[in-house]
Amino acid sequence: MRPVVRSAWMAGRLALLFGLAGCASGNVGLEGLDATLWTQHSAEYRASAEQAFRTARQMLDVGLADPAWSAAVEQAGDPSTLPPAVILDVDETVLDNSPFQARLIREEREFNPEMWGRWVEEAQALPVPGALEFARYAADRGVRVFYVTNRDAEHEEATARNLSRFGFPLDSAADVLLTRGEREGWGSNKSTRRAWVAERHRVVLLAGDDLNDFLPVSRSSLEQRDSLEAEYASYWGVRWIMLPNPAYGSWEAALYGFDSTLTAEQRRARKGERLKTDGERLEEEPR
Ligand SMILES: [Mg+2]
Repeated sequence: MRPVVRSAWMAGRLALLFGLAGCASGNVGLEGLDATLWTQHSAEYRASAEQAFRTARQMLDVGLADPAWSAAVEQAGDPSTLPPAVILDVDETVLDNSPFQARLIREEREFNPEMWGRWVEEAQALPVPGALEFARYAADRGVRVFYVTNRDAEHEEATARNLSRFGFPLDSAADVLLTRGEREGWGSNKSTRRAWVAERHRVVLLAGDDLNDFLPVSRSSLEQRDSLEAEYASYWGVRWIMLPNPAYGSWEAALYGFDSTLTAEQRRARKGERLKTDGERLEEEPR
């Protein structure tokens, strides 16, 4: 009971704070409040990210020592003669965009490309804890660091500026920042870009905050996503490093079937229906 009471109290407080009491649609954007505050203020978030990148460093060494090792499901053939690489996602993997989320909450807005574009062009996103150390560690060991991001190609220059501002390795001898739409066939599904890297490199490690950073799951249902997660259970923390992102991701759209025609209220209702109030899953799976 307690968390429910607390969150109802919290919602009331927020409604007052933002002057939204009684306004049914007024809390657009507020759903991300706790997620954004967790990312910005909790020691738990920092510890999770640092833990992820420490594991990444250790597994990079393991993967480098094994010439047959690859982290990319797109890797075809014998990778042992190819130079090593890692593929990192950008948003919420190496760069922290929580200030952008905070702006959406303050302005009571949903995600929109205009505000996002402005934020990206400011090039002031801070590194996710542990990310910079990991990327430099990889580069120091002769591993080419690729960034595969769904930021649009038009934002490539600003993204490069943001990354290099904090010292992320950006190998000038190759195109290592692979944006969406930069080349034909490079859509939001990152698989084609992973394949492009894997044709030329042995992909030792993938790091991301979304299932799409590892597998082609663009519009897969929650059930399909669960089953893929389980199928690749041996990859997590070994070849694949997942960063926490409670604020957004394909998991969220999967909750309402990727239906972009729904209003914010309809989406919230669909999500509410997904809340589990019993230990149903345990009952479904007898020991
Ligand atoms: Mg991301």
